[in-house]
Amino acid sequence: VRYAEGKGWYDARVEARAPIPMDPATAVLHYAQEIFEGLKAYRAADGGVTMFRPDANANRFRASAQRMAMAPVPQRLFLDALEELIRIDRNWVPDDPEGSLYLRPFQYASEVFLGVKPSSEYLFLIIASPVGSYFKGGVQPVSVWVSRDYTRAAPGGTGAAKCGGNYAASLVAQAEAIEHGCDQVVFLDAAQQRYVEELGGMNVFYVFDDGTITTPPLTGTILPGITRESVMRLAADRGFTVREEQYSYDQWRADATSGRLREAFACGTAAVITPIGTIRDGDGEFTVADGKAGDVTMGLREQLVTIQRGTAPDPYGWVHRVL
Ligand code: PMP
Repeated sequence: VRYAEGKGWYDARVEARAPIPMDPATAVLHYAQEIFEGLKAYRAADGGVTMFRPDANANRFRASAQRMAMAPVPQRLFLDALEELIRIDRNWVPDDPEGSLYLRPFQYASEVFLGVKPSSEYLFLIIASPVGSYFKGGVQPVSVWVSRDYTRAAPGGTGAAKCGGNYAASLVAQAEAIEHGCDQVVFLDAAQQRYVEELGGMNVFYVFDDGTITTPPLTGTILPGITRESVMRLAADRGFTVREEQYSYDQWRADATSGRLREAFACGTAAVITPIGTIRDGDGEFTVADGKAGDVTMGLREQLVTIQRGTAPDPYGWVHRVL
């Protein structure tokens, strides 16, 4: 779908995937005015097809657009475009109970000019691609590397927006995590390098021995994850006290060592929920729950996965039927 100032959104169409020719002066190539979303369509038990909370992705997409001074895609257009794409062929959505159809809506500045100003033209596109399970051979706790050299977002920056530049800036930190034998990077806050913010592509949660579950607050430097918000609802309905609270890395280590912290997990669209087993930094490492997957984590995961796949009741109205 195209956008031009004064004309609005026009020219919606479905096409076979092909290269997009671009003028070398296309704005996005220089100033990175680009945002995206990620969500999944699932095959339901009765053969139908559903999406999980696409309205939440539509809202976040508009919020990202606002931060990046881009024309917002209306909610209806966002949802209609996703549905039209999925309806072409239900067989795109894998039958396999672990598989899904990954959907990648994105929008970029397509005007051709070299001045630093918001573009007056945009393209909104969606790529659809079948994907298998995030975990090969069952859920395994991830190990995380605490980055001291890099932060992801500063107050007033773009941390709460899902813009490509945030990910470009995080690649070197993720590479550092891999070099240190870890699966994922954990970012601390930019101002004090003290509080845990999030992983490279997932939000983080802590489960304490007194029945409390906490996650860092949305202060503008972390992405408001849709899985995060869903987990908060599920956990509260399961009787946990759920709090959005800053939690320092030092406290994390102390509580894991004393046993006050029972479990830690990360969550996002790709993995849904994954236990965090080992936490490492330049000075050493510690584990949570002896590096194993905890019951609370796996219980929340099971409930969320079964809601998404339509094999458990959905009292929240999260499952959006397409076919
Ligand atoms: N934080 C970051 C930086 C992410 O890229 C993602 C993935 N979109 C998340 C958190 C989790 O968000 P969601 O649950 O909406 O996938």
